[in-house]
Amino acid sequence: MQTSNVSTEGTSAVSLEQLEQKQDFIRRHIGPGAAEIAEMLDAVGASSLDDLMQQTVPGGIRLPTPLNIGDSKTEVEALEELKAVAGKNKIFRSFIGLGYHDTHLPNVILRNVLENPGWYTAYTPYQPEIAQGRLQAILNFQQMTIDLTGLELASASLLDEATAAAEAMALAKRVSKNKKSDTFFVADDVHPQTLDVVRTRAEMFGFDVVVGSADDAAKNDVFGALLQYPGTTGEVKDLTDIIAAVQENKGIVAVAADIMSLVLLKSPGELGADVVFGSAQRFGVPMGYGGPHAAFFATRDKFKRSLPGRIIGVSKDTRGRPALRMALQTREQHIRREKANSNICTAQVLLANIASFYAVYHGPEGLKTIASRIHRLTDILARGLQTKEVALKHATWFDTLTVQVDDKQTVMKRAQDRGINLRSDLEGAVGVSLDETTTRKDVEALFDVLLGDGHGLSVENLDAEVTTQGSTSMPQSLLRTNDILTHEVFNSYHSETEMLRYIKSLEDKDLALNHSMISLGSCTMKLNATAEMIPVTWPEFGKLHPFAPVDQAQGYKHMIDELSDWLLDITGYDALSMQPNSGAQGEYAGLIAIRRYHESRGEGHRDVCLIPSSAHGTNPASAQMVNYKVVVVACDKNGNVDLNDLRSKAEEMSDQLAAIMVTYPSTHGVYEETIREICDIVHQHGGQVYMDGANMNAQVGITSPGLIGSDVSHLNLHKTFCIPHGGGGPGMGPIGVKSHLAPFLPNHQVIELDNTDKGNGAVSAAPWGSASILPISYMYIKMMGSEGLKKATEVAMLNANYVATKLDGHYPVLYKGRNNRIAHECILDLRPLKEASGVTEMDVAKRLNDYGFHAPTMSFPVAGTLMIEPTESESKAELDRFIEAMIGIREEIAKVESGEWDATDNPLHNAPHTLADICDSDWNRSYDRHLAAYPVPSVAKNKFWPSVNRIDDVYGDRNLICSCPSIESYQDE
Ligand SMILES: *Cc1c(COP(=O)(O)O)cnc(C)c1O
Repeated sequence: MQTSNVSTEGTSAVSLEQLEQKQDFIRRHIGPGAAEIAEMLDAVGASSLDDLMQQTVPGGIRLPTPLNIGDSKTEVEALEELKAVAGKNKIFRSFIGLGYHDTHLPNVILRNVLENPGWYTAYTPYQPEIAQGRLQAILNFQQMTIDLTGLELASASLLDEATAAAEAMALAKRVSKNKKSDTFFVADDVHPQTLDVVRTRAEMFGFDVVVGSADDAAKNDVFGALLQYPGTTGEVKDLTDIIAAVQENKGIVAVAADIMSLVLLKSPGELGADVVFGSAQRFGVPMGYGGPHAAFFATRDKFKRSLPGRIIGVSKDTRGRPALRMALQTREQHIRREKANSNICTAQVLLANIASFYAVYHGPEGLKTIASRIHRLTDILARGLQTKEVALKHATWFDTLTVQVDDKQTVMKRAQDRGINLRSDLEGAVGVSLDETTTRKDVEALFDVLLGDGHGLSVENLDAEVTTQGSTSMPQSLLRTNDILTHEVFNSYHSETEMLRYIKSLEDKDLALNHSMISLGSCTMKLNATAEMIPVTWPEFGKLHPFAPVDQAQGYKHMIDELSDWLLDITGYDALSMQPNSGAQGEYAGLIAIRRYHESRGEGHRDVCLIPSSAHGTNPASAQMVNYKVVVVACDKNGNVDLNDLRSKAEEMSDQLAAIMVTYPSTHGVYEETIREICDIVHQHGGQVYMDGANMNAQVGITSPGLIGSDVSHLNLHKTFCIPHGGGGPGMGPIGVKSHLAPFLPNHQVIELDNTDKGNGAVSAAPWGSASILPISYMYIKMMGSEGLKKATEVAMLNANYVATKLDGHYPVLYKGRNNRIAHECILDLRPLKEASGVTEMDVAKRLNDYGFHAPTMSFPVAGTLMIEPTESESKAELDRFIEAMIGIREEIAKVESGEWDATDNPLHNAPHTLADICDSDWNRSYDRHLAAYPVPSVAKNKFWPSVNRIDDVYGDRNLICSCPSIESYQDE
């Protein structure tokens, strides 16, 4: 018998502490174990992790003391502690409305999408051949948007309703023929948080906002107008004439609409609107104390080049089959930089997909039933109140009543005693919004609250009255007459079995982190641990309305405060705002703080923003949003910011200098030695330093923006701090600032925040952004502790240096720092190979799919290159598989280079290979099928099949189709 190496003798030699494996989570989050780390250190030529840090990170910026986060917790401990924190939230029945409604997320979607790593760990579909599943789900979202809004073209989600309103204003300015006006009209029945975000954006652009009754919209000379349908207090009114009158004066009209009401009401497109947008939250997405939720956005076809955010379009692959991809990318930040329509990068894809699945599952009939039931319950509530001679503010409604009350305090008290939240910010009235979770019992409880006991009303009797007498609360002329969601996809999957299989069929087309490493440089695709994800769907976090009284949200407060403190410790900043719900929104919020700071010192004329040529596209796009002039600073041949160029530009523009935006370590993957000098030069000339925090995964526990000398940064919690990418969102982009910028952090009109100045406007719809995904980062930090976080950074750097060392002989590593080290990512230069062989970076990216991998980041920040970021979560075994694939591909390139393989009839040019290729009875290529699909033996163990062949980008943009094509078009083949 073999002896086990776990001896039963002498267990007393180990302490209880060791037996409890307190550091279990660190070991699980970090891919390589001790033996693998030792092997890799050996391979890169470092004696220890600390030695590697000494060699790599400039000495002057190393943290003098360890982080102050505490010890790591086990998954069990951390979940227990967070459960206790969550328990401090009080879950009231919410009738607040204001754009947030309780909902029933169908369980089949909850478990198979929201709780499924196949969906939540995917990246934005930049590699469409391995992303057809989520592209289809987003296309369904666009089709749903088109049907419900009555417009021609829809985008693939924006961050929330309020930012979508600001984007609508920006679009209106771009396309309006009224070029002379800088005035934007906002109807006074738009949600207050929407107005707040619009005002902030307008102030930055230098627009005037006029607020007034919708009826007066055309009385102003405006480039655009924003209306809401139904209004924030519930009124459903015909906007046709108002819209026409504004358009008569060359103004563009945007309408914020409630998605559920659109199931029954005539679409705003039919009323004449140019833009229609709103929140898709109530299609199955939990309120989550403010988010994440997807905003939908639709406009006319003729404005397609002005549309903000991503659009999914139908194109074809090399077999001529329909295939989906992101369309018209040249509109957006990653290509157009400061001339982009918006700075949107991370959006809300996961939430858009959930909403689209909700529509697929319920179908048009199911949605009509849900919307009609909500409306019927509202009619019943209204009728009961009218019977008792309670005045309602409006004669029309869909789901929201504004109820005039004499003694508001008493009503609010009765509501509170029954665990009910009403909208309370209305003069002499309360607001009541019903939703799909509202029951008869709820309506009875609302009668009790609004009328006091002993009213004698019965829901059943009132229902009978409505049935016999009919309802006029939605004007006849505004009832929808056309069919919605007629496409097959919305009429096929109404049983759970069918739905389950539909979701799974899409999931199988997508490569996510549950299949293999996704080495996207700058995106930090690390483990999204299950224990981190579990709290996201706890009702204690999901069921809170963002504008619930703060005393009901003490669990959230506790969690947000603690997380903020940790992030401040990690970044070396003094104050933090959780409001921005993406990195790009963080940039915007940070630049606003800088602008307000300059203004507060009488230096509002400073408007030049220096941005190194290697910067991410969101940097210039965000600078433009605060009306800053972008001046590009050159990089030297080593990839570092050219200090001479920086110095001369800073001197030349000294009086105008507002800020520099710099990423650290740089997007070139190195720790610039001169980062302190860069900060000093900008400060000397009166500018502020914005440090883009996307690369915090190379800083945590080792250095910090605050220590280096920066003034403000955003953190991509969906990169460094484990929020999954969701196939293109959600994300969170909180900003940290030094104390002098703290008074200029965003505030919020509806829920006033106490850590910033009163007058500051909002940048997001909800005061704490997408609060319900913060538990992910909270759990991560808690389970890692100070020691684990530092180790994660070290191993992220070890993994990157290991890959660079192993690949350097095969592909040149473009930039290196001191001691020939790279930071947490590296750029491989494919340009010489392209010149020698004709094989492009695109060929390499697609061929990697055949090997079972997602491509690294392509052509950013340097065209013709690949940027690899392995992260600490990948084991040595996985890195070796990736290295094997890259070397295998290099050998294939050599065959093209030498002429052994034909220039086009080769596996690189034809990649990726699909099952349709391999099963094609006409296979007539010069290489064999096995080589095409199983280029190395390890692939066979876990083969991933791209579902379409390489997609034609040019065809897709020339023949733009952004709605679901008919099923027949898929059957041509
Ligand atoms: C990801 C990224 C951003 C933008 O962040 P989003 O959350 O996608 O808006 C900005 N800068 C850099 C360097 C990034 O990698």
